[in-house]
Amino acid sequence: MLAGLDSWRDKAIKQQPNWPNAAAASKASAQLSALPPLVSPSEVNRLRTRLAAAARGEAFLLQGGDCAETFVDATAEKIRNRVKTVLQMAVILTYGASMPVIKMGRMAGQFAKPRSSDTETRNDVTLPAYRGDIVNSFEFTEEARTPDPKRLLEAYQTASSTLTMIQAFTQGGFADLRQVHTWNHGFRSNPANQRYEQLAREIDRAIKFMIACGADFEEMKRTEFYTSHEALLMDYERPLTRIDPSSGTAFNLSSHFQWIGERTRDIDGAHVEFMANVRNPIGVKLGPTTTADDMLRLIDRLDPDREPGRLTFITRMGASRIREALPPLLEAAKTSDALPLWVTDPMHGNGMTTKNGYKTRRFDDVVDEVKGFFEAHRQVGTFPGGIHIELTGDDVTECLGGTEHIEEATLETRYESLCDPRLNHMQSLELAFLVAAELRER
Ligand code: PEP
Ligand code: MN
Repeated sequence: MLAGLDSWRDKAIKQQPNWPNAAAASKASAQLSALPPLVSPSEVNRLRTRLAAAARGEAFLLQGGDCAETFVDATAEKIRNRVKTVLQMAVILTYGASMPVIKMGRMAGQFAKPRSSDTETRNDVTLPAYRGDIVNSFEFTEEARTPDPKRLLEAYQTASSTLTMIQAFTQGGFADLRQVHTWNHGFRSNPANQRYEQLAREIDRAIKFMIACGADFEEMKRTEFYTSHEALLMDYERPLTRIDPSSGTAFNLSSHFQWIGERTRDIDGAHVEFMANVRNPIGVKLGPTTTADDMLRLIDRLDPDREPGRLTFITRMGASRIREALPPLLEAAKTSDALPLWVTDPMHGNGMTTKNGYKTRRFDDVVDEVKGFFEAHRQVGTFPGGIHIELTGDDVTECLGGTEHIEEATLETRYESLCDPRLNHMQSLELAFLVAAELRER
């Protein structure tokens, strides 16, 4: 039996690539283990206390970013637009609901994807499935699709430079609340944009009032921004997990927060085993087939000390199922001695494919699942603590609907995701206004 951080190696594991050269993969992993960690234990601990507040209903988590980050899209402009969008959404939520918002990107490490099949066939050709840039490349050729362990190191470098950009933005004056207007971009004529401008003017007035009253705005100049990704690829997660010398505790320092996906959350599987042994705040995705018993066993295994902030359940039920699937889980948690943080992912249960072959989601379904989430919590008397979404700061056309009325035929104009469809900048703001309204009524 392997102990501690390597006990997962004894367990059944899913969703790992078949590296053609196992020695090369081990070598890359060993190289990663010698590189500096990407985040610090103190930041991770601070996030845990923030999430504990959200679990108690005193804060709200906003987690958003790409389905799959790619190496080529880790550009200054794209990272900046995504961070701006998250900051804008956070301001809408904070101001609209008078509640602290914890900002977290699906960023700086969201490179590995679970797939329903190991292979993909097009016409007569079968090749390994695309598992994210950390494993192989999207292009449909033998060379591109062959898993390449050098990508583990490229993922680390890309995560590192993304993190540097995020830090520069959020600590260097850009996130100053007096800049709320400058975060806005995109089409001025859009109703969601106009609504944002109106709100930004109100915030300006409130800030001027506070300054006139002598308030100190040092605190407003920067904002905490945390990173997260799915803990999927063990050749990346394990070497970036380190023992903190001051506490002797293991932290996964590839990001502040990691979650276990819907496909890898088996109670006896390798991913749950590994994450049970790290000190980070962690998440688990829960789909519509989750039973109360599954959930309680996950609590026992992952949060044995019943520590608020340690465990987040990210539910992704689908708009048509959430109203019947979520309440029994909330009831079971409420009558247990645990206080998990409940977050809605209104994206992953609402996928569909259009007649013209695009993987998409309807904005109305996303909205409906969010509403169902708040309804379920109101019904049971638990706290709706956050939202997890796939978004981009750009004006892509990947999800249907919203105030721009994106239709099936429009999807092809700017569909850029290699994986799941993301809300564009406007749809993200629109959703934030809706969530703020729900939070006010909570
Ligand atoms: C994801 O978050 O991109 C994802 C694959 O989600 P899930 O595990 O919920 O299907
Ligand atoms: Mn996805």
